[in-house]
Amino acid sequence: MNRDTPRVNRIDSGSTIQLRSRVTDHGLRITYGPGQMPTRGLITLPAFARRRDGVRHFFGTRHDPRDVGALGSGDESVRCVVSVTQVHGTDALVLDRPVKGGETFAGGWDALVTDQAGVLLTIRTADCLPVLVHDSARNVVAALHVGWRGAVAGIVPKSLSLLHQRFGSTPESLQIGIGPSVGPCCYEVDEPVLSRLRAGFRDWRSVVGEAGPKKCMLDLHALVRRQAQGAGVDGDRIRSVRVCTACHPDLFYSYRREGTVKGTMISGIMLSRRRSR
Ligand SMILES: [Zn+2]
Repeated sequence: MNRDTPRVNRIDSGSTIQLRSRVTDHGLRITYGPGQMPTRGLITLPAFARRRDGVRHFFGTRHDPRDVGALGSGDESVRCVVSVTQVHGTDALVLDRPVKGGETFAGGWDALVTDQAGVLLTIRTADCLPVLVHDSARNVVAALHVGWRGAVAGIVPKSLSLLHQRFGSTPESLQIGIGPSVGPCCYEVDEPVLSRLRAGFRDWRSVVGEAGPKKCMLDLHALVRRQAQGAGVDGDRIRSVRVCTACHPDLFYSYRREGTVKGTMISGIMLSRRRSR
Protein backbone atom coordinates (compact mmCIF):
# COMPACT_ATOMS: atom_id res chain seq x y z
CA MET A 1 0.00 0.00 0.00
CA ASN A 2 1.27 3.43 -0.84
CA ARG A 3 2.39 5.13 2.35
CA ASP A 4 0.24 8.12 1.52
CA THR A 5 -2.89 6.13 0.91
CA PRO A 6 -5.57 7.59 3.17
CA ARG A 7 -7.20 5.30 5.63
CA VAL A 8 -10.91 5.77 6.23
CA ASN A 9 -12.06 4.53 9.59
CA ARG A 10 -15.46 2.92 9.38
CA ILE A 11 -18.10 2.88 12.06
CA ASP A 12 -17.48 -0.78 12.72
CA SER A 13 -13.96 -0.03 13.89
CA GLY A 14 -15.35 0.18 17.40
CA SER A 15 -13.78 3.57 17.97
CA THR A 16 -15.35 5.95 20.43
CA ILE A 17 -14.62 9.46 21.53
CA GLN A 18 -14.91 10.89 24.98
CA LEU A 19 -16.31 14.33 24.55
CA ARG A 20 -19.43 16.08 23.55
CA SER A 21 -18.81 19.18 21.51
CA ARG A 22 -20.73 21.64 19.46
CA VAL A 23 -18.93 23.42 16.71
CA THR A 24 -19.87 27.03 16.26
CA ASP A 25 -19.00 29.74 13.80
CA HIS A 26 -19.22 32.38 16.52
CA GLY A 27 -16.00 32.24 18.43
CA LEU A 28 -14.23 29.52 20.28
CA ARG A 29 -16.35 26.81 21.78
CA ILE A 30 -14.78 24.42 24.20
CA THR A 31 -16.63 21.62 25.82
CA TYR A 32 -15.45 19.16 28.40
CA GLY A 33 -17.37 16.13 29.26
CA PRO A 34 -18.14 12.49 29.03
CA GLY A 35 -20.38 10.92 26.46
CA GLN A 36 -19.44 8.56 23.73
CA MET A 37 -20.20 8.76 20.06
CA PRO A 38 -19.27 6.38 17.28
CA THR A 39 -17.05 7.75 14.59
CA ARG A 40 -16.91 7.05 10.91
CA GLY A 41 -15.64 8.48 7.75
CA LEU A 42 -12.48 9.91 9.24
CA ILE A 43 -9.33 9.90 7.11
CA THR A 44 -5.92 9.54 8.68
CA LEU A 45 -2.43 9.67 7.18
CA PRO A 46 -0.32 7.12 9.06
CA ALA A 47 2.86 8.34 7.39
CA PHE A 48 2.20 11.85 8.71
CA ALA A 49 1.55 11.09 12.35
CA ARG A 50 1.21 7.88 14.27
CA ARG A 51 -0.27 7.25 17.65
CA ARG A 52 3.06 6.19 19.07
CA ASP A 53 4.47 9.59 18.10
CA GLY A 54 2.28 11.15 20.76
CA VAL A 55 -0.15 12.75 18.35
CA ARG A 56 -3.62 11.98 17.01
CA HIS A 57 -5.11 13.46 13.87
CA PHE A 58 -7.89 13.08 11.34
CA PHE A 59 -9.34 14.65 8.24
CA GLY A 60 -13.12 14.70 8.21
CA THR A 61 -15.55 13.62 5.54
CA ARG A 62 -19.19 14.61 5.08
CA HIS A 63 -20.30 11.76 7.29
CA ASP A 64 -21.28 12.87 10.78
CA PRO A 65 -19.12 16.00 10.97
CA ARG A 66 -19.81 16.38 14.68
CA ASP A 67 -18.02 13.16 15.41
CA VAL A 68 -14.79 15.03 15.77
CA GLY A 69 -12.35 12.29 16.54
CA ALA A 70 -11.64 8.75 17.48
CA LEU A 71 -9.03 9.85 19.90
CA GLY A 72 -8.72 7.14 22.46
CA SER A 73 -9.19 7.23 26.18
CA GLY A 74 -7.30 7.72 29.41
CA ASP A 75 -4.01 9.47 28.78
CA GLU A 76 -4.98 10.10 25.19
CA SER A 77 -8.45 11.50 25.77
CA VAL A 78 -9.64 14.86 24.54
CA ARG A 79 -9.80 17.50 27.28
CA CYS A 80 -11.22 20.25 25.10
CA VAL A 81 -12.07 21.02 21.52
CA VAL A 82 -10.98 24.30 19.95
CA SER A 83 -13.00 25.68 17.07
CA VAL A 84 -12.80 29.30 15.97
CA THR A 85 -14.13 31.70 13.38
CA GLN A 86 -12.15 31.37 10.15
CA VAL A 87 -11.65 34.45 7.99
CA HIS A 88 -9.26 33.42 5.14
CA GLY A 89 -6.45 35.33 6.82
CA THR A 90 -3.10 34.35 8.28
CA ASP A 91 -3.45 35.13 11.99
CA ALA A 92 -2.61 32.37 14.46
CA LEU A 93 -4.18 31.65 17.83
CA VAL A 94 -1.43 30.24 20.04
CA LEU A 95 -2.57 28.23 23.04
CA ASP A 96 0.62 27.71 25.04
CA ARG A 97 -1.02 27.54 28.44
CA PRO A 98 -3.77 25.42 29.96
CA VAL A 99 -7.10 26.11 28.27
CA LYS A 100 -10.20 26.60 30.38
CA GLY A 101 -13.56 25.08 29.54
CA GLY A 102 -15.96 27.58 28.06
CA GLU A 103 -13.16 29.98 27.17
CA THR A 104 -13.79 32.07 24.07
CA PHE A 105 -11.68 34.26 21.85
CA ALA A 106 -13.03 37.12 19.79
CA GLY A 107 -11.76 37.60 16.28
CA GLY A 108 -10.93 35.39 13.34
CA TRP A 109 -8.12 32.87 13.09
CA ASP A 110 -6.98 30.51 10.36
CA ALA A 111 -4.08 28.97 12.24
CA LEU A 112 -4.32 27.23 15.61
CA VAL A 113 -1.22 26.22 17.55
CA THR A 114 -0.78 24.45 20.86
CA ASP A 115 1.81 22.63 22.94
CA GLN A 116 -0.87 21.50 25.40
CA ALA A 117 -1.77 17.82 25.49
CA GLY A 118 -5.43 16.91 25.18
CA VAL A 119 -6.34 20.12 23.33
CA LEU A 120 -7.95 19.15 20.04
CA LEU A 121 -7.40 21.83 17.39
CA THR A 122 -10.09 21.69 14.71
CA ILE A 123 -10.67 23.49 11.44
CA ARG A 124 -13.57 23.36 9.01
CA THR A 125 -13.23 23.11 5.26
CA ALA A 126 -15.32 22.39 2.19
CA ASP A 127 -12.91 23.01 -0.70
CA CYS A 128 -10.07 24.71 1.15
CA LEU A 129 -7.09 22.73 2.38
CA PRO A 130 -6.84 21.48 5.95
CA VAL A 131 -3.13 21.49 6.81
CA LEU A 132 -1.92 19.80 9.99
CA VAL A 133 1.57 20.23 11.43
CA HIS A 134 3.39 18.21 14.08
CA ASP A 135 6.78 18.81 15.63
CA SER A 136 7.69 15.69 17.58
CA ALA A 137 10.90 17.25 18.91
CA ARG A 138 9.25 20.34 20.39
CA ASN A 139 5.93 18.61 21.03
CA VAL A 140 3.76 21.18 19.36
CA VAL A 141 0.96 20.90 16.79
CA ALA A 142 -0.83 23.27 14.44
CA ALA A 143 -3.96 23.19 12.31
CA LEU A 144 -4.30 25.56 9.35
CA HIS A 145 -7.29 26.52 7.20
CA VAL A 146 -5.84 27.32 3.78
CA GLY A 147 -7.84 28.66 0.87
CA TRP A 148 -6.31 30.52 -2.04
CA ARG A 149 -6.44 33.84 -0.16
CA GLY A 150 -4.65 32.45 2.87
CA ALA A 151 -2.14 30.61 0.71
CA VAL A 152 -1.29 33.68 -1.35
CA ALA A 153 -1.04 35.71 1.86
CA GLY A 154 1.50 33.18 3.12
CA ILE A 155 -0.30 31.44 5.98
CA VAL A 156 1.89 28.36 5.60
CA PRO A 157 5.35 29.99 5.73
CA LYS A 158 4.11 32.47 8.36
CA SER A 159 2.86 29.66 10.58
CA LEU A 160 6.08 27.69 10.20
CA SER A 161 8.00 30.83 11.11
CA LEU A 162 5.80 31.31 14.15
CA LEU A 163 6.48 27.72 15.24
CA HIS A 164 10.19 28.46 14.99
CA GLN A 165 10.01 31.73 16.91
CA ARG A 166 7.69 30.58 19.68
CA PHE A 167 8.67 26.94 20.08
CA GLY A 168 12.04 26.54 18.40
CA SER A 169 10.71 24.27 15.66
CA THR A 170 13.00 23.62 12.73
CA PRO A 171 12.03 22.27 9.30
CA GLU A 172 13.94 19.07 10.08
CA SER A 173 11.63 18.19 12.96
CA LEU A 174 8.32 19.09 11.32
CA GLN A 175 5.84 16.73 9.72
CA ILE A 176 3.08 18.21 7.58
CA GLY A 177 -0.17 16.50 6.65
CA ILE A 178 -2.32 17.99 3.89
CA GLY A 179 -5.94 16.92 3.68
CA PRO A 180 -8.46 16.74 0.87
CA SER A 181 -9.41 19.87 -1.07
CA VAL A 182 -10.80 20.82 -4.45
CA GLY A 183 -8.24 19.54 -6.95
CA PRO A 184 -6.73 21.06 -10.09
CA CYS A 185 -9.30 19.00 -12.02
CA CYS A 186 -12.13 21.17 -10.68
CA TYR A 187 -10.64 24.45 -9.43
CA GLU A 188 -11.01 26.97 -12.23
CA VAL A 189 -9.92 30.48 -11.29
CA ASP A 190 -10.00 33.74 -13.22
CA GLU A 191 -8.06 36.97 -13.36
CA PRO A 192 -8.82 38.38 -9.88
CA VAL A 193 -7.37 35.23 -8.33
CA LEU A 194 -4.53 34.94 -10.82
CA SER A 195 -3.38 38.52 -10.33
CA ARG A 196 -3.15 37.97 -6.57
CA LEU A 197 -1.39 34.68 -7.13
CA ARG A 198 1.17 36.27 -9.46
CA ALA A 199 1.82 39.02 -6.93
CA GLY A 200 2.11 36.67 -3.97
CA PHE A 201 3.89 33.62 -5.34
CA ARG A 202 6.88 33.96 -7.65
CA ASP A 203 6.64 30.40 -8.96
CA TRP A 204 2.93 30.72 -9.75
CA ARG A 205 3.17 29.15 -13.22
CA SER A 206 4.11 25.82 -11.66
CA VAL A 207 0.79 25.53 -9.83
CA VAL A 208 -1.69 26.44 -12.57
CA GLY A 209 -2.82 24.82 -15.80
CA GLU A 210 -4.39 26.51 -18.80
CA ALA A 211 -8.19 26.50 -18.90
CA GLY A 212 -9.04 29.08 -21.54
CA PRO A 213 -8.74 32.83 -22.06
CA LYS A 214 -7.78 34.44 -18.75
CA LYS A 215 -8.71 31.29 -16.87
CA CYS A 216 -6.59 28.65 -15.21
CA MET A 217 -6.96 25.53 -13.13
CA LEU A 218 -5.31 26.13 -9.76
CA ASP A 219 -3.54 23.34 -7.89
CA LEU A 220 -3.93 24.62 -4.34
CA HIS A 221 -2.28 21.54 -2.89
CA ALA A 222 0.82 22.03 -5.06
CA LEU A 223 0.97 25.69 -4.03
CA VAL A 224 0.95 24.83 -0.33
CA ARG A 225 3.44 22.01 -0.76
CA ARG A 226 5.83 24.31 -2.62
CA GLN A 227 5.49 26.98 0.02
CA ALA A 228 6.29 24.48 2.77
CA GLN A 229 9.30 23.25 0.83
CA GLY A 230 10.31 26.84 0.25
CA ALA A 231 10.30 27.25 4.03
CA GLY A 232 12.80 24.41 4.28
CA VAL A 233 10.59 21.38 4.87
CA ASP A 234 11.80 18.35 2.94
CA GLY A 235 9.24 16.87 0.54
CA ASP A 236 9.50 13.53 2.34
CA ARG A 237 8.10 15.18 5.46
CA ILE A 238 4.97 16.40 3.67
CA ARG A 239 2.16 13.85 3.35
CA SER A 240 -1.03 14.41 1.40
CA VAL A 241 -4.44 12.86 0.98
CA ARG A 242 -4.77 14.20 -2.60
CA VAL A 243 -8.44 13.45 -3.12
CA CYS A 244 -10.59 16.07 -4.83
CA THR A 245 -13.56 17.18 -2.75
CA ALA A 246 -15.55 18.19 -5.85
CA CYS A 247 -15.00 14.82 -7.55
CA HIS A 248 -16.17 12.75 -4.57
CA PRO A 249 -19.72 13.69 -3.52
CA ASP A 250 -19.93 10.43 -1.59
CA LEU A 251 -17.14 11.56 0.74
CA PHE A 252 -17.06 15.35 0.79
CA TYR A 253 -19.02 18.56 0.75
CA SER A 254 -17.88 20.91 -2.00
CA TYR A 255 -18.90 24.49 -2.58
CA ARG A 256 -17.51 24.26 -6.10
CA ARG A 257 -19.68 21.28 -6.93
CA GLU A 258 -22.81 22.18 -5.00
CA GLY A 259 -22.74 25.96 -5.53
CA THR A 260 -23.69 26.54 -1.92
CA VAL A 261 -22.42 25.69 1.54
CA LYS A 262 -24.25 22.53 2.50
CA GLY A 263 -21.80 21.58 5.20
CA THR A 264 -18.16 21.44 6.12
CA MET A 265 -15.68 18.75 6.97
CA ILE A 266 -13.90 18.92 10.31
CA SER A 267 -10.24 18.04 10.60
CA GLY A 268 -8.19 18.02 13.76
CA ILE A 269 -4.94 17.31 15.53
CA MET A 270 -4.10 16.79 19.20
CA LEU A 271 -1.07 16.00 21.31
CA SER A 272 -1.54 12.96 23.51
CA ARG A 273 -0.73 13.33 27.17
CA ARG A 274 1.68 10.48 27.10
CA ARG A 275 3.99 9.19 24.42
CA SER A 276 4.14 5.43 24.10
CA ARG A 277 7.71 5.17 22.95
ZN1 LIG B 1 -11.99 17.21 -9.13
